[in-house]
Formats: sequence, C-alpha cells, structure tokens
Amino acid sequence: MPISQFKEEFVARLKIDQIREKQLILNENDFEQKFIVPTVFAINSTDIFLYSHPWGNKVRCAPDCDSAREGKGHIREGCPKCWKKSKDWGTVNAFGTQNKFDLVAEDTKDGKLAVEIKFVSFTKGRRPDGEIQRFLGQCTLAASKFDFVVGVCGYSGMLNPEYDWDTEKFKHWAEKHNIDIVFRCISTETFANYEIEWITLPSFKFKRFLEREEFHYTDRHGVKLYYKDEKQELLVGFIEGYQWYHAKRGPVRIYILTHDSKEWGELLRDAKQILNELKEAIYEVLERQPFRGRIKGNIYGSPNG
Ligand SMILES: [Zn+2]
Repeated sequence: MPISQFKEEFVARLKIDQIREKQLILNENDFEQKFIVPTVFAINSTDIFLYSHPWGNKVRCAPDCDSAREGKGHIREGCPKCWKKSKDWGTVNAFGTQNKFDLVAEDTKDGKLAVEIKFVSFTKGRRPDGEIQRFLGQCTLAASKFDFVVGVCGYSGMLNPEYDWDTEKFKHWAEKHNIDIVFRCISTETFANYEIEWITLPSFKFKRFLEREEFHYTDRHGVKLYYKDEKQELLVGFIEGYQWYHAKRGPVRIYILTHDSKEWGELLRDAKQILNELKEAIYEVLERQPFRGRIKGNIYGSPNG
C-alpha cells in the first residue's frame, strides 16, 4: 500500500483504538511502547517498512536487513541496525541542529512518513506550554522533508477548555501541510467501548472573542443536554463531536456544568441530583445513541451542527 493510505489507517487507529492498561502508562516511553508501536505494527502491510526504536532489543533482521526487506527473510521489529540506518535519511538537519523522530516509515516508491510522540501532564492545573511547543516544532521540522507527519500526544489530567479554543484551527492548518495531530487522554473513565474524558465548566455562557468572532461551546458540533421542567430549561452538558457516534467506540469528550456554577440559579439546591441524572442520561446516549428529545428523567438532548 502507498504510504498515504498507511498514514490514513494509522491516524484512524490512533484516534479510536482502545488504549489498554492505561494505569501502566506513566511516561512517554510507556505511551510509545504500549500504545503507538503495537498500533503501527498491527497495520497489515508487507510493503511498508517501519523503523522504530529498539528499546534494548539486540536481535537483528534475519538473515540480514537488506534480504529481509526484499522479502527474503524476516524483518525484526525494532532492529537496532535498521533503526541506525534510518537516521541516514530520516533526520532533518537544520539551523545547526539534528532533529530525529520517534518512528519513521517508507513505502517502495520512496514515500516517507515521520511520527513524533509526546506525553505530557495537565494534572493539577499544570500547563505544559514548552513541551507542546517542542512537540509541534518537531512536527513542522519533519513536514519540511517527509511526505506525511503524524504527531501523537498522550496526556494525563484535563485540558483547560479556556486554552483549547484554537486547537481545531491549528489542526486544520497542520493538515494542509500534511501533519496530522492526535491528542489522547490517558486518565479517562471507561464505559462500554468508550473512553470518557469529563470536563467540568463553570459556565456554558462563557464567551471568548477571537478575531472579532464570538465563540461558545455550543458553536461546536455535538450534542447539547438540557435539564427541563415546567419552569425552566438549562444547558447542563455537552458531548463534543460525533466521532463517538459513528465509531461507536473510542474517546469522547464531555463537558458538564460544575455543581456550584452560578448558572444553576434556583436549581442550585438540586444541582448534585441533576448532575447524577445527567450522567445516567449520558451513559444512555453512549450505549443506545438516542440524543433527540427526552433521554432520561428531566434530561433532554438536541444535536448541534
Ligand atoms: Zn534490520
């Protein structure tokens, strides 16, 4: 298969494949060895050559690397000789620096792919600005030389929604330059085949002004969830995007109102009870996928975009 098709399949898997044994993923090496490497090697293709870090492996291809790649032998995953040799063509030497990537691949027609892997922590309000800049810098350096670049970042903790407004804009820009960026949360709750990332928001009415445009959560695609009774209607939750709906598995990001938000108004006393009802309604949506009209109790859904 051509490297473009390989890249498509790899990105699709990175977005929705289950990350197993999340509790054992504590750093970048774990993330690479327990999720990325098995995912990339699971793609069935005999005409794509992958070069990954040996991680201590000393076993080489048999009978030798060249014969193995000509189909006359056995390619060894993480062969140290192949890994070393891939550096001859797989680095970007620029501005007096040598930039290497975590995984490189090529097809039989000289099409090339670079993969950059990162793992960061957003726990306890931490904002890893420098690490993200370095990660995205590596991706752009790679894109100057490779046909395709995949940047995949695993993270623990929660993205602060306030610093997430320009993410989609950046991703679109990067895609135009053949860079696919995938972020995966490690500290998620598993439900059915989904990995739920809960994000609590003090307000759904919160606005941001960017380039004279006004942004709301509800400007995004997804499902709005309301609490409704005879007297009032209040937006209390938002399921982002529809990937979860189409794939029926994988990560899903859900925003819910904090239990002490000012938006509760007269409902504040019942906020915790309503939030419990909301969570049950969300599990119902994920499991059976109804999201129009009444879902459970006083919780109603409506699609957005
Ligand atoms: Zn080899």
